[in-house]
Amino acid sequence: MEYSFKKMTDVLNANGFKFSKKFGQNFIVDENIINNIINKSMIDKDTLVIEIGPGAGSLTYKLALNSKNVIAYEIDESLKDILNYNLSGLSNVEIIYGDFLLRDVKKDLEKYEYKKLYVVANLPYYITTPIIVKLIEDELNVDKIVVMVQKEVGDRFKAKPNSKDYSSLSVFLNYYYDVFKIMDVSRNVFMPKPNVDSIVLEFVKKDDMLFVKDKTLFFKLIRDSFKQKRKNIRNNLKGYDLDVINDVLSKYGFDLNARAEQLSIEVFVSIANKLC
Ligand code: SAH
Repeated sequence: MEYSFKKMTDVLNANGFKFSKKFGQNFIVDENIINNIINKSMIDKDTLVIEIGPGAGSLTYKLALNSKNVIAYEIDESLKDILNYNLSGLSNVEIIYGDFLLRDVKKDLEKYEYKKLYVVANLPYYITTPIIVKLIEDELNVDKIVVMVQKEVGDRFKAKPNSKDYSSLSVFLNYYYDVFKIMDVSRNVFMPKPNVDSIVLEFVKKDDMLFVKDKTLFFKLIRDSFKQKRKNIRNNLKGYDLDVINDVLSKYGFDLNARAEQLSIEVFVSIANKLC
């Protein structure tokens, strides 16, 4: 097929495709947005790209042209004919049908050789956080994640201490990645048009991760510290050695009355390393 962005979306109508709310389907219908994402992601011929939710394949197509290989996970099998048609002629795309959250992704990657692993996707918004958490917990060692997400969710991902959006998720993410905003995206570039605006975020793996002696304890400490947002550390961390914690906190100018949302990742790392 000769490439035409318009044709790719026209095929949806020709096939009588029904957009599914359940699967969070809002497809990008503005080619400039796709081009921007491709340019900003800096993928190249050494990059294996994972895409979650290719939809009609408009982002997938350009990812394939600019990378070594693309593995795309799509839950909606009624997109099969459309994806086959839109991506015909590309030999470096594998589409895996099924729920991304249930996949053994590490296994899917085994047969590929690559220098860099990126995730580039316009995510299904109803499962944005579980997808990001899975990408980290599966230990895929993703070098860079470039994702379009709902604006409010994006704010939580890049939140810094002392802001209302700072949460255990922000600390968890910040341990592995530096998070940047790439661009704002208006709700008008999607079909159907969603009720929210979007942003594209970039997560870049940190070169110098902080040293953590016991990761299980570290992540539990973070979750427990934020358990009840309005409560202070003394109350949220009742089962822990509060003397040790107070000692560390005082080095940073805090005491047990501090609340988790005031504490940077360095403070949490210091506490965790002192507790074991
Ligand atoms: N990337 C396309 C479509 C984005 S809409 C575009 O930008 O135009 C989100 C896509 O994610 C849809 O195609 C939807 O079917 C798919 N999806 C939703 N839940 C999924 C899941 N659990 N696993 C894989 N794909 C999913």
